[in-house]
Amino acid sequence: MKAVRITHTGAPDVMKLVEVEDPTPGSGEVLIQVRAAGINYIDVYYREGRYPADIPFTLGIEGAGTIQKLGRGVKDFRVGDAVAWCMYLGAYAEYAVIPERHLVRIPDGIEFETAAGALLQGMTAHYLTRSTYPLKSGETALVHAAAGGVGLLLTQMASQLGARVIATVSTKEKADLAREAGARDVILYSEQDFEAEVKRLTENRGVGVVYDSVGRTTFDKSLNCLRPRGMMVLVGASSGPVPAIDPLRLSLLGSLYLTRPSLAHYTLTREELDWRSGEVYAAIQKGTLKLHIDHTYPLAEVVHAHEELEARKTTGKGLLIP
Ligand code: NDP
Repeated sequence: MKAVRITHTGAPDVMKLVEVEDPTPGSGEVLIQVRAAGINYIDVYYREGRYPADIPFTLGIEGAGTIQKLGRGVKDFRVGDAVAWCMYLGAYAEYAVIPERHLVRIPDGIEFETAAGALLQGMTAHYLTRSTYPLKSGETALVHAAAGGVGLLLTQMASQLGARVIATVSTKEKADLAREAGARDVILYSEQDFEAEVKRLTENRGVGVVYDSVGRTTFDKSLNCLRPRGMMVLVGASSGPVPAIDPLRLSLLGSLYLTRPSLAHYTLTREELDWRSGEVYAAIQKGTLKLHIDHTYPLAEVVHAHEELEARKTTGKGLLIP
């Protein structure tokens, strides 16, 4: 089978589409024919070696397809089932071996592209708005990179919960998408000082929560945007990692909370995984959550796909189709 393998970490061209042996499912695992693989910014961290993985490995932590074979002891799934998974490496390939505990069933009527495209970023938006900082109607949230994969889903969910979303994006086209997703105010942080704008828009009150997936270039000013006892949710580092901070700063800025959450810790049990994925897929089926699959590539174009993502040329979701 064909797979995108990493034998050493680095720039996009370390990704090589190669012929490898078909994998065999071990105990508690299934073999999946991958029909769509999600592209996530986290894949860049794995490719660069910022997130650890044993080399060589197949990139990609999100996919959807059909079960071809069951390993020993698999109880809840059958050959032929349509399934999706995330947070487990191996998606950028024709076939993947995935532990049963990571699988969710794809509901009838949801296509493989949607199932793969919505799972990781949809569940991320779900836990951020429901669990990390449960948003209430009337609150204000600052969402960075609001036209990205996580950003568009997060903006929709937050505004549907009744929150006022102040979004940041780098271009006018992205601003239009953020507005369509429900953002009340959009700041072009490539041109405007977003801290000054947030203070102006909130009449110096500040926001209750910042969802910051950008990291290095936004973190400091984001802290200054929070109201007393507000929460800084550092969810990623698309612009690079954030340097260490002195906890006293949190006190001086208003007894702030700081968390650096991961989806892995918000899908710890079968019940939690089924709850979050079920609500995401149901909202898509009802039409209340719109998934923007704006970029699809064959596996052979994986280098180009990563180059576009890192150059901030993408919006919404990207997929690789084996
Ligand atoms: P996106 O589609 O959001 O792509 C990244 C976006 O970040 C870009 O489009 C760009 O938007 C913005 N950005 C700002 N500065 C830079 C920069 N210097 N280089 C590149 N991009 C930049 O990706 P995802 O939706 O896949 O992921 C968003 C973030 O969320 C990532 O940091 C990812 O790691 C994190 N994440 C965290 C999870 C968790 O559980 N902790 C789970 C899922 C994702 P613009 O042009 O508008 O600035």
